[in-house]
Amino acid sequence: MSDDVVIVGGGPAGSATALCLARAGVAVRVIERSPFPRRKVCGEYLSGGAVDTLDRLGVLDQVRARAVPLRGVRLIPAGAPPVALSFARLALSCAREVLDALLLDAAVGAGAVVERGRVDELLLEDGRCTGVRVRTTEGTLETRRARVVAGADGIGSVVARKLGLTKPAHGRGRYAVGGHYTGFGTLDAQVEMYVGGGAYFALNPLSELHANVMVVVPKQRLAQWSRDVDAGVGDAASALASGVRSFEGASRLGARVSVGPLAHDVRRATAAGAILIGDAAGFVDPFTGQGVFLALTGAERAADAILVALGRPERTAEAFATYARWRADDVAWRRRLCATVTLLIDVPPLARRAALRLARFPDAATKLMEALGGAIPPQRAFRPGVLGRLLV
Ligand SMILES: Cc1cc2nc3c(=O)[nH]c(=O)nc-3n(C[C@H](O)[C@H](O)[C@H](O)COP(=O)(O)OP(=O)(O)OC[C@H]3O[C@@H](n4cnc5c(N)ncnc54)[C@H](O)[C@@H]3O)c2cc1C
Repeated sequence: MSDDVVIVGGGPAGSATALCLARAGVAVRVIERSPFPRRKVCGEYLSGGAVDTLDRLGVLDQVRARAVPLRGVRLIPAGAPPVALSFARLALSCAREVLDALLLDAAVGAGAVVERGRVDELLLEDGRCTGVRVRTTEGTLETRRARVVAGADGIGSVVARKLGLTKPAHGRGRYAVGGHYTGFGTLDAQVEMYVGGGAYFALNPLSELHANVMVVVPKQRLAQWSRDVDAGVGDAASALASGVRSFEGASRLGARVSVGPLAHDVRRATAAGAILIGDAAGFVDPFTGQGVFLALTGAERAADAILVALGRPERTAEAFATYARWRADDVAWRRRLCATVTLLIDVPPLARRAALRLARFPDAATKLMEALGGAIPPQRAFRPGVLGRLLV
């Protein structure tokens, strides 16, 4: 069995790539191991840039109909005053089981084939990736050949590992635990981020009455919760929120979700016959909510490179190299931006100074939000008039 393109993983990166390629008339197969709709550990915030990309992909109306518009984010550092930042552009919260299923359905509507199964191995011939080996739902091991294999299989990507592209991960390797909760009282369309001591608790309203809760902690802390993880989550979140939010009266709806360590990195996002997209091509700490934006914009760019590879094979190396360079550069700037913002909020004296300066220089606050949300390139935040104003 042979396709033009096999995509491993049907999350935002895989589905959006499939959608772009299928619309261009490419025979594309998405292989996804989980039955959809499925939960995904995520804060479920969609930045302005992610919303714009959904619009370009032609799915924004469907997403908006199932999402909640957000006004802004309230940062509450330990030992410093809270800071409220408004979103200048439309940002949404949308449950991932909804978003991911809508994107995958759109890809199918455009002509992509979706197959349930888990990719365990790649076909490598003369140093080139020529397909995958998939464990089907019936338990058989089958071969799917393709002219291009796209790895959109998220953190810990099997495709990246089998291509020898994975490198020691960047970041602190924290763990995230959470779920959907009710019982916090009325929520007012703002993301709340309680931060301190290398941990944070994010609360993102999915409606007036229920919210996505994510607690991100170092591994040692997680180990202490082994007896009762729910109690650990509640205690850690309540401590971070120091009285502003309490878990008393709050209860989880559906399954608890967790993932970690929150780190994954690659040497390069392409190899002969293969391309990595979204988290598979390098993970950015979720603190600043840039992941879905990066998955969707990466999908658009990867689809362009794949179209060159299919239509003008002699230009494949150049198209893949351009994609790999863009991806490495973009992810490096986004990580720098995330690390700087984390430092500004997590270190109390810096957080106090930043709170004063954000209020004094609203233009710097707007530019920072635009860079984080994907409206302007991340490097623009490092101009003296933006982060320089907040730091010095
Ligand atoms: C705690 C946390 C909070 C976050 N909060 C936000 C946020 O609020 N906003 C934001 O924009 N981003 C956030 N992110 C980041 C965001 O979730 C990711 O960047 C985004 O999901 C990346 O999409 P993807 O398609 O690359 O990968 P994924 O969404 O991980 O999709 C990968 C898919 O591949 C499938 N798969 C994996 N291995 C195989 C295999 N071997 N065979 C077949 N299928 C396979 C998986 O089942 C999955 O469906 C957060 C991440 C975490 C961990």
